[in-house]
Amino acid sequence: MDFEKYFMGRIRSVIDRYKIKGCIAMALSGGKDSMAAFHALTNFKFKLIPFYIDLGIEGYSEKCEKYAKEIATMLGYELHVVRLKDYGIDLSKEKKKCSVCGTAKRYLMNKFAFENGCNYIATGHNLSDAITFAFNNLASVNILNFRGMKPVLEGNENVRMVARFKPLFYLKDDECMKYVEMNKLPYCNEKCPYQKEAPTVELKKWIHELEEKRNGIMLNFAKSFEKIEERMEKKQEIRQCSICGYPSYGKICKFCRLREKHAKI
Ligand SMILES: [Zn+2]
Repeated sequence: MDFEKYFMGRIRSVIDRYKIKGCIAMALSGGKDSMAAFHALTNFKFKLIPFYIDLGIEGYSEKCEKYAKEIATMLGYELHVVRLKDYGIDLSKEKKKCSVCGTAKRYLMNKFAFENGCNYIATGHNLSDAITFAFNNLASVNILNFRGMKPVLEGNENVRMVARFKPLFYLKDDECMKYVEMNKLPYCNEKCPYQKEAPTVELKKWIHELEEKRNGIMLNFAKSFEKIEERMEKKQEIRQCSICGYPSYGKICKFCRLREKHAKI
């Protein structure tokens, strides 16, 4: 089977299984994976709205935005841009930059998709990332993070939570790279300057070495992790943030608390 067919087949299997349709907010980071996901999804009958979140990381965010804009133009779309600084948050003033960045991205992706009436938010998360993340959590006895280890996460209209869709969930790093190269898609090759050499680098290497010897083991890992996820208790109650109305585990959401904090810095 040719590669392109195989690649699209993997994505189609998620779309069919979860009956995905309607409007999709496509989150572009500027990296190879979200570029591949965006390009691949244009082959389906979705209404796609590509957007980029500018996290204001000096010397990095501008480059990523340029690539996101390039692919949008190439595929005939208008790129929407959401800027973190418009919310008064300055990442450079944060100690725990990666965790704050994660909170901000999740929040702004959801807000953008909700405001634009989208049924889903699509991201570039691939199989390699998912398996590495899962093993890293196993290594730190953090089983609760297995929640969400699946290609589609349901939304919840009552708390303005839009469903999440990871089209590349069953595709590996090198496969995404091959797709990007075959289709000559622009992408930013640089890493975020805040990203440290995490223990996940080692884990990812190990997982891929294993995959070389036992082809298909990563896919089976993913399927097993999904089964564990299905069996997990999901008691944690989500409600609406009393300030912004978006999903929150407490009275006030993490993002609103960040805004309050940065207003005082
Ligand atoms: Zn809030």
